[in-house]
Amino acid sequence: MKNFTYSRAENAETAIQFVAQNTRAKFLGGGTNLVDLMRENIEQPDALMDVTHLSNEIEALADGTIRIGAAVKNTVLANNQLIRTRFPVLSQAILFGASGQIRNMATIGGNLLQRTRCYYFYDDAAKCNKRQPGSGCDAIDGFNRIHAILGTSDACIATHPSDMCVALAALDAKVLVEGKNGKREIAFNDFHLLPENTPQIETDLQVGELITAIEIPKKDFAANSLYRKVRDRASYAFALVSVAATLEVENNEIKNVSIALGGVAHKPWRAFAAEKVLTGATATEENFRAAAEEELKDAKGYAHNSFKIELAKRTIVSVLNELAERGGTKQ
Ligand code: SF4
Repeated sequence: MKNFTYSRAENAETAIQFVAQNTRAKFLGGGTNLVDLMRENIEQPDALMDVTHLSNEIEALADGTIRIGAAVKNTVLANNQLIRTRFPVLSQAILFGASGQIRNMATIGGNLLQRTRCYYFYDDAAKCNKRQPGSGCDAIDGFNRIHAILGTSDACIATHPSDMCVALAALDAKVLVEGKNGKREIAFNDFHLLPENTPQIETDLQVGELITAIEIPKKDFAANSLYRKVRDRASYAFALVSVAATLEVENNEIKNVSIALGGVAHKPWRAFAAEKVLTGATATEENFRAAAEEELKDAKGYAHNSFKIELAKRTIVSVLNELAERGGTKQ
């Protein structure tokens, strides 16, 4: 591992100033992915600015929004009573991720900035456009069982590894950031990017910007929500496919629905096409399947991951069936 300096930020302003002036510095949250990447020499920062004691509160705002400080630990958020009752999908998604020990260390801000677990990204003998732009992508014709089926490009077919982010995408969260040019809010769906020709650029975060908080808007029907993760083993494995969804059915008609998919794209994949099919429709298995077909109609499988297309459709249908039975009338 390359030598680096370490310092602890007293406040957000100091941290932002330091990292904005030193483009080879990184913010350090729990470090659960960053330190792994440093050990493998994938990340080689000159300096780490520890931000773990900044913004670590969970607050309910007057309008019903929940604001979560970026340094809140994953375990704390998953066990928070407000989250468990108002947004169970978020609590479930966090608890399906990583291991107890990692969740105790990992921060919410850091979770958003996790990097892909593509094997070739971690192997410096392999060609990888994300690690070394312009070098090629060994995953496209390689062993690509865990790779993406939606939103891929000729440059990269990696997936985003987070479970928590899939739930935040379904909940229309916002990412609050602060940098040398002030504060701004980014809609969750705009925060992570598709690979296109620049897979090394993964988020809308600018150099020197610090994630300070996540906000989840009031959404009463999100109490009827569910996260399902399909993976190779029951614990400590990344999603092959996951689905986060909320559903409200009134008088047998779908009034509100939100669906996001994990394990299928370079970013948490909000299923807007499926939501469009379902809004105003009756809550039947036939309609759930039609919505899943619509969402996956442009999916592209590679040599080892085409199974994900049908798996994603079936997981969407199964999650919506369960939510309809719990919170509405399914015919
Ligand atoms: Fe690199 Fe992306 Fe190709 Fe994996 S899929 S080898 S991360 S360019």
